[in-house]
Amino acid sequence: MNSIATTASGGDTETTGVLDAVIVGAGFSGLYQLHALRDRLGLSVQVLEAADGVGGTWYWNRYPGARCDSESHSYCYSFSEELLQDWEWSERYPGQPEIMRYLNFVADRLDLKRDIRFNTRVAAAEYDEARNVWHVTSEAGDRFTARYLITAVGCLSTANVPAIPGLESFAGAWYHTGLWPHEGVDFSGKRVAQIGTGSTGIQAAPVIAESASHLTVFQRTPNYSVPARNGPLTPEFRQYVKDNFDEIRRIMRSTTNGHPFTIADRSVFDVSPEERLGIYEAAWETGGLRFRAAFRDLLTDRKANDTAAEFLMNKIREIVNDAGTAEILAKIDHPYAAKRPPIDTDYFETFNRDNVALVDVHADPIESITPAGIRLRSGAEYPVDVIVFATGFDAMTGTLTRMGIRGRDGLTLTEAWEAGPRNYLGLQVTGFPNMFTVTGPGSPSVLCNMPVAIEQHVEWITDCIAYMRERGIERVEALPESTDRWVEHVNETAAATLFPEAHHSWYLGANIPGKPRVFMPYPGGLARYRAICDEVAAKGYEGFEFS
Ligand code: NAP
Repeated sequence: MNSIATTASGGDTETTGVLDAVIVGAGFSGLYQLHALRDRLGLSVQVLEAADGVGGTWYWNRYPGARCDSESHSYCYSFSEELLQDWEWSERYPGQPEIMRYLNFVADRLDLKRDIRFNTRVAAAEYDEARNVWHVTSEAGDRFTARYLITAVGCLSTANVPAIPGLESFAGAWYHTGLWPHEGVDFSGKRVAQIGTGSTGIQAAPVIAESASHLTVFQRTPNYSVPARNGPLTPEFRQYVKDNFDEIRRIMRSTTNGHPFTIADRSVFDVSPEERLGIYEAAWETGGLRFRAAFRDLLTDRKANDTAAEFLMNKIREIVNDAGTAEILAKIDHPYAAKRPPIDTDYFETFNRDNVALVDVHADPIESITPAGIRLRSGAEYPVDVIVFATGFDAMTGTLTRMGIRGRDGLTLTEAWEAGPRNYLGLQVTGFPNMFTVTGPGSPSVLCNMPVAIEQHVEWITDCIAYMRERGIERVEALPESTDRWVEHVNETAAATLFPEAHHSWYLGANIPGKPRVFMPYPGGLARYRAICDEVAAKGYEGFEFS
């Protein structure tokens, strides 16, 4: 293990030796990657984190109603029996404050914070070919040198505030859900506009409506949603989880999406229409992402998917009292779950409140923001005091391409990914030796229960580094032909699903003007992906070049 001194000079910090690794980000991925490299391999590691605490996406997303859609007992690390036994989740789905408490509990229990530099946003990371090291510089000018650069920046960490003309003139306050003020926002007595009806907007609207004097939801693309059916966990269930975690872990690792339940082994047209309706009703009652697991062909057969879509659109019409509002909400143009399927607590019911209105900005787009509020193309104006942007993220690539990453021969990551992200296994980019991207594009990542995908990546990266150290190998880089083959495989796999039919989805980069339209996550399922990664490792890291 290298001993690294850091010196402060002129307000700057500079490592005087070469660290084994710099990890960027202290969310689920960065914390486990630090633990794995430092405590298992004995390496010198520095984590750099822009926030002043751990938590990653959960540090920033403090909007009203923020809660994970994965069930609590599966939204956690599974690598440590001690962590599993010593933590208690309170509800079926973990709320943002509880996830923050959990990640702080993990960071404290594993004594991780001493190797995390908070308030340190990376401005540049440059590969030095002569020395085979990465030089990482923070916005404040602190400098770090390391053999390995590991990005653990999450997939949804660069907030997207759409460039709507006039925002700077708005006289009220505005917020993006992904950069929510720590002190919260008091909506009482306020007229609020919420733009966006993705997973975030669907969680936020019912909570905002409770305290705002009026809420107007601006919806561009209608969305399906299934009731989460959140509630407290019973002591019996919590004990069941502790006693049966080996089996729960086995299920999470063997399913497509890394959740603690299996996808039913039946096709939509294996059953009669009456039986199907009964299955959908039962799945609706169970709630949450389990609805998607009702049949195995929902994401591969459009006709099969149409039956789920019809069921869900009818539910909207049943719940929402005003027929006109119901039709705007139910006019859904994409297959169910081809975009990330939201789950909710009283979302559609919220439109039955007297203080809530829905505006269809697909039919009449937002043209500008005025000092008083929001103006549509037709000239209609909506005076408001607060605007909430629930408008999502420059997902999967946005944070990586903004980090000033420069590989061999000065190639920037932005240049390498000009036509969309290209890498091998979602783990390594050709031209960027010794750099690993935890849950990078091209890996199952956002299509999964994230901690399961993260653990698989962290363990694979850790094993790869251990393999190299045991053999005195100093450099690993994805071969160009491996990248070509992997990108082709991801595209072919996506083409065999209904995902590309949601042409406006952020999975395709379609939510960011000018972003290349490439299906970014790997849709072949986590179990299949794990098998591919394991085989690559077993064959001496086939497709990578060691030197
Ligand atoms: P999102 O899914 O990208 O949704 C953004 C919303 O804003 C969409 O309705 C979008 O409409 C709308 N929008 C964007 N720009 C607009 C504009 N200029 N005018 C009008 N509408 C505009 O973002 P998100 O809801 O934050 O969710 C992102 C992802 O984060 C989710 O898919 C999920 O993976 C994750 N997430 C998870 C949880 C959880 O586990 N509980 C919660 C929240 C988020 P279009 O569809 O027309 O573009």
